Amino acid sequence: MSSLAPKRVLLAGLFHETHTFLEEVTDRSQFATRRGAELLDTAGDGSPMGGAVEIARERGWQLLPAMDLRATPTGIVERAVLDEFTQSLDETIAAALQDGPIDGVLLILHGAMVCQGCLDVEGEVVRHVRTRLGEQVPIAGVLDLHGNITPEFAAATQAFVAYRENPHADACEASRDGARLLDRLMRESLVARTLFAAPSIVWPPPGTGTAFEPMSLLEARARQFERDHPEFLCVNVFAGFAYADTPWTGVSFTLSTIGDEATAQAALDELCQLAWLHRTRGNVIGAPLGEVLDEIRRSSTGPIVVAEPSDNIGGGGPGDGTALLSAFIAAGFERAILALNDPHAVQVLAAHAPGDRVTLDLGGRGSRLSAGPVRLEVELIRTGPGLFRLEDPHSHLASMCGDQFDMGPCAVVRHGGVTVLLTSNKTAPFDLGQWRSQGIIPEEQFVIAVKAAVAHRKVYDPIASRHLTVETPGPCASDLRSFPFRHLRRPIYPLDGAL
Ligand SMILES: [Zn+2]
Repeated sequence: MSSLAPKRVLLAGLFHETHTFLEEVTDRSQFATRRGAELLDTAGDGSPMGGAVEIARERGWQLLPAMDLRATPTGIVERAVLDEFTQSLDETIAAALQDGPIDGVLLILHGAMVCQGCLDVEGEVVRHVRTRLGEQVPIAGVLDLHGNITPEFAAATQAFVAYRENPHADACEASRDGARLLDRLMRESLVARTLFAAPSIVWPPPGTGTAFEPMSLLEARARQFERDHPEFLCVNVFAGFAYADTPWTGVSFTLSTIGDEATAQAALDELCQLAWLHRTRGNVIGAPLGEVLDEIRRSSTGPIVVAEPSDNIGGGGPGDGTALLSAFIAAGFERAILALNDPHAVQVLAAHAPGDRVTLDLGGRGSRLSAGPVRLEVELIRTGPGLFRLEDPHSHLASMCGDQFDMGPCAVVRHGGVTVLLTSNKTAPFDLGQWRSQGIIPEEQFVIAVKAAVAHRKVYDPIASRHLTVETPGPCASDLRSFPFRHLRRPIYPLDGAL
């Protein structure tokens, strides 16, 4: 085959951030599925898969699309999901090899997925591909900055690019960069390898924003390494995902290089030292609820955004914890809004008309770790469908779902000055279209509660008069010492006192 023939590239996606401390098992039905040519429909939708398809077209590749599976962060994933995914890869590879060689592999992954019987799903996937295609075919792609990367994953791959921003505004662009690197590896027949290093650190999600130290320092150093060393194809900073209990959970770095190993290793060592030096800055724990309520009472201008990381939907929280609902009502706040995922309440309210007063239990069923349901008399404001187009096509949400999101049937209810948006699908608060589509104008509120750690800040910071982070009980609590880790390597900061 001449070198001008189109490059033939296997394309697939598997995306899940797994919270292994949740009781629920994530089953196959919770994954949005695309098969074969359906993967190509994502072009232009702002998702990492869409970005990869765009570069493939630009570079004239012949894509060999297998399967794309994505789900919102939830509990441990049933094994059948991984088995179906690798089977799809096998079938696509077998069919493709009948028409000629496969020149490269492009994978759209998260990096913190855990299945029943497999603590390193991404490592398993790339090893699987490697066994089928041999040592020469480059494997590249994109990973979330919250990936828990393993030495085995790094050793089996050439050029994965991690998101460099949290909130993940650059997810699509990082994916394009991964595809561009693969194109270069194929065209120039370069031999690249990926090296790995991890300091003994695990940070809770609120400590992983890239606008703040320590992540801003690590990102800046990584980009400087890329500028100074043309032989470094990419230098990745992984903040890790603390609630996936695996041996390599936590902060790590990978470096893909076409140069010598010692230079690359020295750069990785420096990044590890820098993370260690600033480790306490990443252990961000919110203020107690009473303190946050006092801060709100002392304020006169809104909107005050109150982030509640313990029920962080983007991190696997159920999004139905009621601690702030009860507190806002007790405090008598006016123009306070919050969203709860409560399909049952939505169903009850669907039988009523706007203006009806209904007494029902709200929220509090998703986790035994958080506050339970709250019985409340509410006024029904409206009910209706929850599909909305993202106002910010580059939001963190777009990195997960593309340009629209379906909250499922919704209801808006009010009790005193507190308005509650009830959804039927967990909806990470990363786009203001969530509110506006339901007749609520976020800019006009005094207090907005969001079930998130950091990723909401891209859309909420521009409208917020202040931003507060509150620590409440819940499955994504920021004090990592409260979680029963079993697989994580020890000792590690901040779990072990001597560190
Ligand atoms: Zn992430």
